Amino acid sequence: MTRIVKFYETTLRDGEQTPGINYFAEEKLEIARALADMGFDTLDCGFPISGQPEFEAVQLIARNVSNAEICAIGRAFREDVDRAWEAVKDAAQSSIQPFISTSPLHREHKLGKTRAEVLEMARATVARGREHTPNIDFALEDTTRTEHDFILEVVGAIMKEGARFVTICDTVGYALPWEFGELIDEIRREYPTVRISAHCHNDLGLAVANALTALQHGAERADTCVNGLGERAGNAATEELVMAIRTRHEDLGLDVRVDTTKIVPTSRLVARLSGMQPQWTKAIVGANAFAHGGGIHQDGVLKDARTYEIVRPEDIGLPASDRRMFVGKLSGRAALNAQLRELGYELTPEQLGRAFVLVKNLLGKKKTLEEMDLRQCAATAINPTAAVQALEAEESAPAE
Ligand code: MN
Repeated sequence: MTRIVKFYETTLRDGEQTPGINYFAEEKLEIARALADMGFDTLDCGFPISGQPEFEAVQLIARNVSNAEICAIGRAFREDVDRAWEAVKDAAQSSIQPFISTSPLHREHKLGKTRAEVLEMARATVARGREHTPNIDFALEDTTRTEHDFILEVVGAIMKEGARFVTICDTVGYALPWEFGELIDEIRREYPTVRISAHCHNDLGLAVANALTALQHGAERADTCVNGLGERAGNAATEELVMAIRTRHEDLGLDVRVDTTKIVPTSRLVARLSGMQPQWTKAIVGANAFAHGGGIHQDGVLKDARTYEIVRPEDIGLPASDRRMFVGKLSGRAALNAQLRELGYELTPEQLGRAFVLVKNLLGKKKTLEEMDLRQCAATAINPTAAVQALEAEESAPAE
C-alpha cells in the first residue's frame, strides 16, 4: 500500500536564513501562495519574535493563505511560543514549532545548560504551546549529535505534554542515511505512536538521501526548501525529494500529493525573489537538467528521450521543447542537425557535414557558440567559399 508523504516546507524560514536572502513581506506572501497551490501541507513561514517585520510578514501570510497550514517557529521560551502563536492564530489552519538544541556540544558551548535544564525547557514549552493549540510540534536541534538515551528522554517528555510532531534534526548535515534510518527506528520502537518529521541539511550532500531514508523508516513528514536553500549548504531540496518519490514511488511504497507541474515556475519565482540561481547541474531545476552535451547521448535522446532522461520536462512544468541539445566540442551531427532545423535550416547530408567541420573549427577558438555563430556556419555550409572548401578538404584528408 502506498503511503502519502507530508511536507513541512521551510523555504520561507530556513530558506530565508540562507546568507544573502531577505524577502519583503509581499514577496513572502507570493512564495507562500505558490507553495500552498502546489499542495504542501505545512508552510514554515518564519520566526516572529525575531522582529516586527518578520512578525508582520508571517501574519500577512496567515491572514491570506488558507489552503495550507501556516506555521511559525520560536525558541523554547514562553514569550517565543506566545509570539509565534500570535502571528499564525488568524490562519484557517495553523501550527507552531518551538525548538531547543539537545546535543552535548550545543548544550555546553551554546546554551550553557544541563541535560535536566534542556529537558525541562522542552517540556514546559510544549505545555505552554498546548494552551494555544493542539498543533504544537517540537524540534530537537542537532538531534543526530545527541546521546540516544537523551533523545528518547526528550521525545517521551514532549509527547506526554501533547506534542503533535517531533522533528528529528540533522542540523549540521552530519548523518549517514543508514544511521539516520536506525535512529528513526529506535525512536519508533520506544514510542510506537510518535509522529516524526525529518529536518535534514546538506553539508555532505546527503540531505535528500537522509530525508528519504527517514520517510522509508516511518517518518511521516520531511522538511524541505525550494532550490535546496537554507543555512550553509542548505536543506533537502523540495523538488529533489518530490521527484525522487514520484519517480520511484512503486519501489518506495511512498508517493506525494503535490502538483509537480508547478515545480519549475515555483523554483524560478524563488530564484528571482532570493536573487540566487540554482547551479547549472542542479537536479530537476538546474539549467542543464535537460541539456545533453555528448554526441552519443544526443543521438539517443533525439531517437527516444527515455534513453537518457528519467523525468519528463512536462512533468515538472517545462515545455518539452526545453530539452536542449548543446552544440559543443563533444557533440554530434544529429544534435547539430536538430539545432539547425530549429533555426530554420534544412541541410543536405553534404551541407551538414560541412557545417559540422565549421562548427568544430570555431570551437577551437571560442568557448561557446551563440545562435549567430550557428547561423553563419549553416549559411556558409550551404554556400561555401573557396576558403571553406579548402578547410573542409584539409579536415577530411587522412592523417599523415
Ligand atoms: Mn535547519
